Amino acid sequence: MALKLTGTVALITGASSGIGAATARRLAEDGAAVVLVARRKDRLEDLAAEIENAGGTALAVEADITDRLQAEAAVQQAVERFGRLDTLVNNAGLMLLGPVVGADTEEWDRMIAVNVQGLLHTTHAALPHLLQAAEQGPRQVADIVNISSIAGRVAWSGYGVYNLTKFGVNGFTESLRQEVTRRHVRVGVLEPGGVATELGSHNKAEVRDAMIDPFYESTEVLAPQDIADGVAYMVTRPRHASVGELWIMPTDQA
Ligand code: NDP
Repeated sequence: MALKLTGTVALITGASSGIGAATARRLAEDGAAVVLVARRKDRLEDLAAEIENAGGTALAVEADITDRLQAEAAVQQAVERFGRLDTLVNNAGLMLLGPVVGADTEEWDRMIAVNVQGLLHTTHAALPHLLQAAEQGPRQVADIVNISSIAGRVAWSGYGVYNLTKFGVNGFTESLRQEVTRRHVRVGVLEPGGVATELGSHNKAEVRDAMIDPFYESTEVLAPQDIADGVAYMVTRPRHASVGELWIMPTDQA
């Protein structure tokens, strides 16, 4: 039987748009108090108000997770406000595409800072609380869901450093799963294919024209809610069942 989220607390990074916002809405609908983390505070506050107006519980926390101290403070605020942390969704991410040859390496730094270091900072800060929830909480299990990508499974030309970050997230996820699974912290990776979000919009115009717009124009891409459904599935499995990997694709993306 699926577990309920009522009485649990979920922290979602990158909750100001796209997959993170949809996941926050979904976990709140399912009964979790949700902690919304990102840099755009206005967006977070609007979403928190929307969730509260619908009868849910939400806290907006402005943080740049590439800064270890801000990531730690975000986790701390969640625990101070709600007294516990049961679920961490490491969703914040950046995808800047283009060839390695002649690349703007500042873009690499930004991607690695968010997709890798941000995820590590948040995970490290959250783990003691998740372990405690798994030991003492009503469900006696806790969850980390890392939003990776199909680009964590398959590499393509032009995706080099994004591939590097997402393959890295997959490896780290499985290592951490093995480390803490017997203590009932489940660690899994969710790998979406194309989803209609702001993700591609941060790229330079030539990359959008050559690599991103043609894909979105020729594919019936997923909605953020499709991924939120996957997260909700992963974190509501019975205590004895752990989803280590979930791969969700648009049907017409080969
Ligand atoms: P969006 O661009 O819509 O969302 C990215 C989120 O990350 C935003 O909320 C943004 O908030 C947040 N973020 C970025 N940098 C930081 C930072 N330094 N600190 C805190 N938050 C940050 O894209 P998606 O919803 O698509 O992306 C979510 C995840 O899904 C990413 O990890 C992405 O790689 C992955 N993914 C997406 C796919 C797609 O096709 N869309 C496919 C496969 C995977 P803010 O700017 O307010 O800080």
